[in-house]
Amino acid sequence: MRLVLLGPPSAGKGTQASMLSTRFDLLHLATGDLLREAVANGSSLGKKAKKYMDTGALVPDAIVIGLLEGKMKSTQSQTGFVLDGFPRNLDQAKQLEEFTDIDLVLSIEVNPGLLLERATGRRVCRTCGAVYHLRFNPPKAPGVCDKDGGELYLRDDDNEEVVKKRLRTYEEQTKPIIQHYESTGKLKRIEGDGSIDEVQNRLLAAIVEQWPQLDGLAHGPIHKKAAAPASSRPAMQGPRPQAQAQGQRQQGGQQQGGGRRRKRHRGRHRGRYNGPGPRQQGNN
Ligand code: ADP
Ligand code: ADP
Repeated sequence: MRLVLLGPPSAGKGTQASMLSTRFDLLHLATGDLLREAVANGSSLGKKAKKYMDTGALVPDAIVIGLLEGKMKSTQSQTGFVLDGFPRNLDQAKQLEEFTDIDLVLSIEVNPGLLLERATGRRVCRTCGAVYHLRFNPPKAPGVCDKDGGELYLRDDDNEEVVKKRLRTYEEQTKPIIQHYESTGKLKRIEGDGSIDEVQNRLLAAIVEQWPQLDGLAHGPIHKKAAAPASSRPAMQGPRPQAQAQGQRQQGGQQQGGGRRRKRHRGRHRGRYNGPGPRQQGNN
């Protein structure tokens, strides 16, 4: 299952991708997270990227694609992946096609009037990256991550001025990708207004429409490492899985909590993903 989640800033891509990754045992690949990790590490690449992030512009493709490829090669999943925040322009979409196929693109469409509040109310765990919202998805104790007790912080780019610039960047550079994927027949539009659980249910319905054999797995509570019997899984290609607890943001609704571990991955590899190799553990 090779998914792309599209949507404007703070539409809920990360929240939804995390829930899907847990339910279907997918690798959650979020370029924004990879970039923030590079910034937190103080690397020269991170310093360069931050200048763009702080102004609401896109980070140059070469930086983002290098980080993403390194991550895809170093963390593998037998079941597939969900891309969150990538691609963000047509060139990235075309470059993605050079190294992997995509099965389904889910575009989360939110009334623009809701996005500013979603962004400015977002709080992120400094330790594990779990995402909360002051109003829509609050932690049990203010300022403290439910999962690991980490400090919740406001992202530097989640202020009104930069959010507005990010929204413009989305309109100008990212939105054209929707038409691109529509022309390939792989796009499904998902209504992104409503609660986290409502949006998740719409995404699950779209996934089941594509892979009817996953109907059973798409209902009921999420179990960590939930795994479909081999016979009920769709044919999957892509990187292999790592331990769920180590790798993926988990938040939103009743399944809130969890998070990804911040750790740098080195190495850039060119080449196309054509299928999983032997299972590897950890390494996220
Ligand atoms: P993105 O990855 O698209 O930027 P996030 O998943 O980080 O978006 O969500 C942005 C903020 O909005 C977070 O604080 C999250 O808790 C909250 N959020 C996500 N989905 C919804 C929703 N359906 N309704 C209300 N708030 C939401
Ligand atoms: P959001 O979806 O809420 O805007 P992200 O965490 O996905 O936030 O991205 C934060 C910032 O990181 C973006 O505003 C942009 O500067 C940079 N970024 C993330 N993904 C990409 C990408 N695929 N290409 C270029 N820049 C990116």
